[in-house]
Amino acid sequence: MIIPTSLLQELLQVQPHLRPQMYFKSSLTALSHAMEDQVLAGVDQPLVIASFQRERFYRQEAHRYLRIAERTHQVYVLAAPETDFKHMSGDYETIAFDPEDGLSHEWHLIVVGKNYAVSLLCREHPFSPADAKSPIATMDQARRFEGIWTFDRQVGCEAARLFLERILIYRPELATKIESALRHLNANAASGFNQIDPAPFADRLVTYLQAGQYKQLKAYQYIADQERKERLTNSITAAIRRSMNLEEILQVAAQELGQALHGHRCLIYRCKATDATAELQHEFTRPKSTSLVGQTWSLQDNPLFQAVLQTQESLHIEDIPTDAHLKQAKSFKSLLRKAGVRSLLMVPVLYQARLLGIIELHHCDLAAAHVWSDHELSLVEAIATQVGVALIQAEAYAELEDLNQQLEALDRTRSNLIAITGHELRTPLSTIQVCLESLATEPDMAPELREVMLSSALADAERMRKLVQDFLMLSKLESGRIEWHLEPLPLQECIDLSLSSIHARQSQEPLPKIKTRIPSELPLVQADGEWLVEVLSKLLDNACKFTQADGKITVTAERNGGQMLEVTIADTGRGIEPERLETVFDRFYQEEGALRRTTGGTGLGLAICRQIVNNLGGRIWAESGGKDQGSKFHFTVPSIEGRPEQAASPNGGHRVRG
Ligand code: ADP
Repeated sequence: MIIPTSLLQELLQVQPHLRPQMYFKSSLTALSHAMEDQVLAGVDQPLVIASFQRERFYRQEAHRYLRIAERTHQVYVLAAPETDFKHMSGDYETIAFDPEDGLSHEWHLIVVGKNYAVSLLCREHPFSPADAKSPIATMDQARRFEGIWTFDRQVGCEAARLFLERILIYRPELATKIESALRHLNANAASGFNQIDPAPFADRLVTYLQAGQYKQLKAYQYIADQERKERLTNSITAAIRRSMNLEEILQVAAQELGQALHGHRCLIYRCKATDATAELQHEFTRPKSTSLVGQTWSLQDNPLFQAVLQTQESLHIEDIPTDAHLKQAKSFKSLLRKAGVRSLLMVPVLYQARLLGIIELHHCDLAAAHVWSDHELSLVEAIATQVGVALIQAEAYAELEDLNQQLEALDRTRSNLIAITGHELRTPLSTIQVCLESLATEPDMAPELREVMLSSALADAERMRKLVQDFLMLSKLESGRIEWHLEPLPLQECIDLSLSSIHARQSQEPLPKIKTRIPSELPLVQADGEWLVEVLSKLLDNACKFTQADGKITVTAERNGGQMLEVTIADTGRGIEPERLETVFDRFYQEEGALRRTTGGTGLGLAICRQIVNNLGGRIWAESGGKDQGSKFHFTVPSIEGRPEQAASPNGGHRVRG
C-alpha cells in the first residue's frame, strides 16, 4: 500500500502557525542523536516514533533503538525496505512502507513522554537542476531538508497522533497497542509542561558540533595543504617550462621547497644508482645554516641512500643521533653532525624506476627533533615527480642536441663525400676506364704495356676500395652505432698484431726499421682489441708512408698518471709543420692535396684514429719539430692497475681480434 501524502504537510495543515526552516543532513543527525540520548538518559517512558527514508539509514541506528526499547515499550520504527526490513513486532514495532510512499522523502523523530515532548519533522529538499551539478550536491552531509524541530508539546502530540493513525493503516493488527498510545497521548496532551533535563541533549549536541568543527578544520587544513602543494608544483612546473636550463630549474625547486617546508636546508642533487659519490650543487639554506654546496658526498657508504635505492621510497629520520639506520655508519653520522643535521628527509627522484637524483630536507634545530608529517612527505614526493620530469626533459634535450651534432657531422661527411667524389674517386675511375678501354680496343698492344695498363687499373681500383672502406668506417664511428667490447688486454699483443698487418700489406716496398719498447711491468689496457689494433695499424702505416726506408720508427708506452697508458709512435720521417699538428686530424686532410699525393692513403686515417681513441676514453695528439724533423703520434688508453695476470680475461687468455 502506498500513501503518497506528506506527513509534514498534514501536520502543517493542522498547525498552520508553524514555520518550517532549512536543515542540513548533518544538523538533523545531530538533533536526532541528541533526542535519542535524551530518551536514554531520562526516567520517562515516552512514546517514540522514528521514520527513516531508507532501511540503510535505520541500520546505522538499529542498536540505539534496541536500547531505547529497553526503556519504553511504545517504540515505532518506519523505513522503506531495501533488504530484509519488514512489518514486525519484536523489541519494538517496525513498519515497512513502500519506497514510493510519501514518507520515503521524509525524516521524522517524535518523542512524547510525561515530562517532555520533542519532535523533528522534515522533508528532503531536492537540489535545483543547476545546483545538482555542483560538487556539493554529491556530498551526503550537504543534503537539505525543510521542516520543524520543536519542544512544543502540542505539536509533538499532534504529530504523534497523525503518525499513529498512519501506522494503523499500514499495520491494522496493532490497533490495541496504538489505542493505548493514543489514550496516553490524550491524557498527557493537556499537561502542557516540559520538565526536560537539558543536560544530555545539550551535551550531545555540543559533542556533535565539536566533531563537526573538527572535521571542518581538518578539511580546511587539507585544502590549505593541497593549495600550497599546488602552488609549489605550479611554480616549479612554470620554472621547467620557462627554462631549459636544468641548473636553474633545480635551484628554483630547492629554493621553493626549502622555503615552503620551513626546513633549515634543502638539497637537490643528481645521481645514478651506480654512482659512488654525488656533488652537492643545488641548495637552499636558512640564514645561519652552513652551506654544503661544493662538497662531494659519498653515496656508497651512505646507508640512507642505500636504503632509498633499495626500496625506491622516501626515508625520514626524526632524530639522527638515536636512529637505528645510522648505528654502524659512524663516518656518515659525523658528516651529518658537522652539517648540523638533526632530522632528515630523503626522497628519490625517479623516472620509470630509474634513479635520477635525490631531494633532501634537513632540520638543524638541535633543541628538538622534527617530526615529519604526511603532508611534508607528499609535498616533497610531488615535487620529486616534477624534478624527475625536468631531468628527463633535459636528458632528452641533451640527447637531441647530441643527435643534432651527429646529424650535422653526418651532413658534413656527406658533403665531403660529394666533394671528394670529384677528385678522389673520379681520378682513379678515369684511369681505370682509360686502361680498360685501351686494353679492349687495342688487341695488338705490347705485352709490357698491357702489363702496365693492368697494374695501374688494379692499383687505382685498390685506392678506391680503401677510400670507400675508410669512409664507411668513419661514418659508422661518427654515427655512434658501434658496440664496444672493452676487456683487459696486453698492449704488446695489440702492437704485434698491427705490425704483422703492416708487414703483410707492404711486402713489396722496403720499410723503415720498426722498434718496439714496451716495459713488461706495464698494466693491461682496458680497450676493444679490434679497434685498438686499427689505431696502431693506421699510425704505423702513416709512419712507414712518410719515412724513408733508411729511417727509424719506434713504438713506446708508459704510464700516464691516473689509470692511463700513453703509447707513442715516433718516426724520423718528413715531419709536420707546427700549424698543421691539429689539422692533420681533420677528415680528408692531406698535406700535398689528394691529387698530388704520392704515398697513397685516403686522408681519413687520423680522423678515424681520433674517433676510436676518444670512444675508448683516451686522447690523441701529434708532435713534430717541423719539416724533416720526424713526427710523434701519442695516444692514451685506460689501463687496469694491478698485476697483469690478475686482470686477465676469465678464460685465461687475452682476446685480440686482429
Ligand atoms: P692519409 O691516408 O693521407 O695518410 P691520414 O688521416 O692518416 O690520411 O693523415 C693525414 C695527413 O697527415 C697525411 O696525408 C700527412 O700529410 C699527415 N701525416 C700523417 N701521419 C704523418 C707522419 N707520420 N708524418 C708526417 N705526416 C703525417
